[in-house]
Amino acid sequence: MKTILTGDRPTGKLHLGHFVGSLRERVRLQNSGDFDKIFIMIADAQALTDHAGTPAAVRENILNVALDYLAVGLDPEKSTIFIQSQVAELFELTAYYLNVVTVSRLERNPTVKAEIAQKNFEASIPAGFLCYPVSQAADITAFDANIVPVGEDQAPMLEQTREVVRKINELYGETLVEPDILLPQNQVCRRLPGIDGKAKMSKTLGNCIYLSDDADTVAAKVKEMYTDPLHIKVSDPGHVEGNVVFTYLDAFCSDTTTVAEMKEHYQRGGLGDVKVKKFLLEVLEETLKPIRERRKNFEKNPAEVWNMLENGTKVAQAKAAEVLARLKHNMKIDYFK
Ligand code: ATP
Ligand code: MG
Repeated sequence: MKTILTGDRPTGKLHLGHFVGSLRERVRLQNSGDFDKIFIMIADAQALTDHAGTPAAVRENILNVALDYLAVGLDPEKSTIFIQSQVAELFELTAYYLNVVTVSRLERNPTVKAEIAQKNFEASIPAGFLCYPVSQAADITAFDANIVPVGEDQAPMLEQTREVVRKINELYGETLVEPDILLPQNQVCRRLPGIDGKAKMSKTLGNCIYLSDDADTVAAKVKEMYTDPLHIKVSDPGHVEGNVVFTYLDAFCSDTTTVAEMKEHYQRGGLGDVKVKKFLLEVLEETLKPIRERRKNFEKNPAEVWNMLENGTKVAQAKAAEVLARLKHNMKIDYFK
């Protein structure tokens, strides 16, 4: 069996980082027909670990994320799209997994560490937030997933999941499937920088181009995009490393020859930012226009989207129940069986 599990936190609309880091890959894998099962999870319970005060926003963003999914071409006929919090089995699995993970191991998780610093949680980390990698281990293993297509920031989560799997299997016998991460082939897509030049495009940092941004908004964001601060006059030689306009061209433009020529010209001097940005905008619009149009269509019928999520959640729940029963059987805590 080849099974995929992946997902997103409903903390906002999805952006270009999600697209190149994971969504584009998911759609490709979905349509390849190489997989027996594909589970796509909207991680609302995980979003609540650092947004406990705003469940209404999380609820609204469930719909946003689902619309973005449909807009990029995820197809509920081929992929099971579901809502994490409605699959109670995931929390039961988490409870057992927490017993095989140490607090110091959680504190060492580099992504969690970075997020704690970013959110100024140092003095008051919600316990649920610190433990979210364990709940992610439950999300992945509950579906016997062996492939997890995600961005690079998720590598430590996958590593921690593999440790949980090995520990559980060691203690209770072969029970869980050990998953592999699947990163995008293209290096720049593994962690797309923000339009401000910061290392990661992220909802939390507010440096995103959203898949649902209208054409004018995208144009304005490209205009203000971080380039090379030393490239002042058009004739000045410019830098392409750390210049997000070129990074985005690497991520989105399939015409690599043109990009290579432009880079060369920019480095030599004589190619202005305005021109490069104009080209980037055209390239981005090629991807974004059809997504935006499909989204508009699905937006007309939110009830149908919720219905799709309910159906997917039922399918996901049945599978998670099977894995939980297997674990409890192997732990010999299925007392009433
Ligand atoms: P939050 O700030 O709420 O954590 P986020 O923007 O980090 O939001 P997530 O929902 O945590 O988004 O991540 C969903 C998926 O998108 C993960 O697979 C993650 O690796 C990927 N991803 C997120 N941002 C990027 C990025 N800038 N480049 C590549 N992949 C990304
Ligand atoms: Mg994140």
